[in-house]
Amino acid sequence: MTDDRRLVVVGASLAGLRAVEGARRSGFTGSVTLVGAEDHLPYDRPPLSKKFLDVDTDPAERTTFRSEDVLSSELGVELRLGSPATALDVARREVVLANGTVGYDALIIATGSSARSLPGCEHLAGIHTLRTLDDALALRAALDARPRHVAIVGAGFIGSEIASSARSRGLAVTILESLPTPLGRALGAELGRATSLLHERRGTTLRCATGVQALEGNGRVERLVLSDGSVVEADLVVVGIGATPAIGWLDRSGVEVAGGVLCDETLATSVPGVYAAGDVAEWVNPLFDRRMRVEHWTNAAEQGALAARNALDRDPARPYAAVPYFWSDWYDSRIQFLGIPSSTESTVVTGTAESGRFVGLYRDGDRLVGALAVNHQASIMKYRALIAKRAGWDEALDFAARLHAA
Ligand SMILES: Cc1cc2nc3c(=O)[nH]c(=O)nc-3n(C[C@H](O)[C@H](O)[C@H](O)COP(=O)(O)OP(=O)(O)OC[C@H]3O[C@@H](n4cnc5c(N)ncnc54)[C@H](O)[C@@H]3O)c2cc1C
Repeated sequence: MTDDRRLVVVGASLAGLRAVEGARRSGFTGSVTLVGAEDHLPYDRPPLSKKFLDVDTDPAERTTFRSEDVLSSELGVELRLGSPATALDVARREVVLANGTVGYDALIIATGSSARSLPGCEHLAGIHTLRTLDDALALRAALDARPRHVAIVGAGFIGSEIASSARSRGLAVTILESLPTPLGRALGAELGRATSLLHERRGTTLRCATGVQALEGNGRVERLVLSDGSVVEADLVVVGIGATPAIGWLDRSGVEVAGGVLCDETLATSVPGVYAAGDVAEWVNPLFDRRMRVEHWTNAAEQGALAARNALDRDPARPYAAVPYFWSDWYDSRIQFLGIPSSTESTVVTGTAESGRFVGLYRDGDRLVGALAVNHQASIMKYRALIAKRAGWDEALDFAARLHAA
């Protein structure tokens, strides 16, 4: 039996791609339209702040997931690239694009997030953010020009990865962080500080508890003025101060938004037939009994597939109950985090921060809620099942003692 329903996915990146693949995998034979603001086919973002910036990587090597032929011929997807959605009319079930409209029966919102920038320095050249392939090409060209001093505003994961690439090219790098501890919000104060030792060991200067007051220069950035009045000379500045969900196009649509698109446990939004997935979705994660929005690759991939499944076949809709996971590569170290960072205590269960190889666990009340591994790839995933089954803190410590004694 042919299906005459129309699935529309807005956002042609990881979550959007996994949504269209998931729809076809589940046997959906109706029409599928994938709408993207960028001209590019869906591509992978994590390499853009890692290998893609390395001096010996060919910038022509793209991180495209699927060819146009696979998308259109094999997956039967109509691509509307380079045409951002500008509005949503839920009464007419239509997405308004910059160049037309497209009607839907089921809609997935997968518009991700965009990089935050520092206001007031648009007139200066030499200031970059990194979110898209075009951003990465521009940043790579700026690194190839061998700046005298690279300043990175924000000691988050992407800023830290860019610092690693710049140092591997032998460039002088200073990271400026407004909080007293880098990654304090993501990893907690103690273990955030522990990861920052990786920078010091590789000669990256890290200055915390100092805000950036102004960027100055004559047409091109030359220096940053800090909140303590000091000045950092820099001819390349990368702003890595986080991202904001791309929800502007949903204004007045009736889809409820807050810090992201508000969803229930099954990724359904406040409007029937409309689901959200990936960086843009703020959903209720039943595993932690709380609402969250995470900007992690695995989350986007899994939510994209599930949102399509639930949008097309609600009987019964499945919740997205997951232990969040992300990784990050700095210098030659791999950092991995499972779970949620909000905790009442963290403790290192094997290794030491000073050695650059350790595993730390996070508790919330009596429950294990997170695990951080630095250069401990073999063991981190073993904690996933424990966190998922809501293991208690003592059970987690016993497990760790046995695991790391082995
Ligand atoms: C440089 C970089 C490095 C990263 N490294 C890691 C890592 O090491 N580990 C990890 O776990 N995660 C990493 N991430 C995060 C991970 O890549 C994201 O979580 C993932 O890309 C989210 O996928 P998404 O599809 O939800 O959103 P996005 O990838 O942000 O895609 C959203 C898409 O929607 C499009 N769009 C936006 N608005 C509209 C509109 N109005 N109409 C149409 N299209 C629109 C955008 O152009 C974009 O293509 C990294 C991210 C970046 C940027």
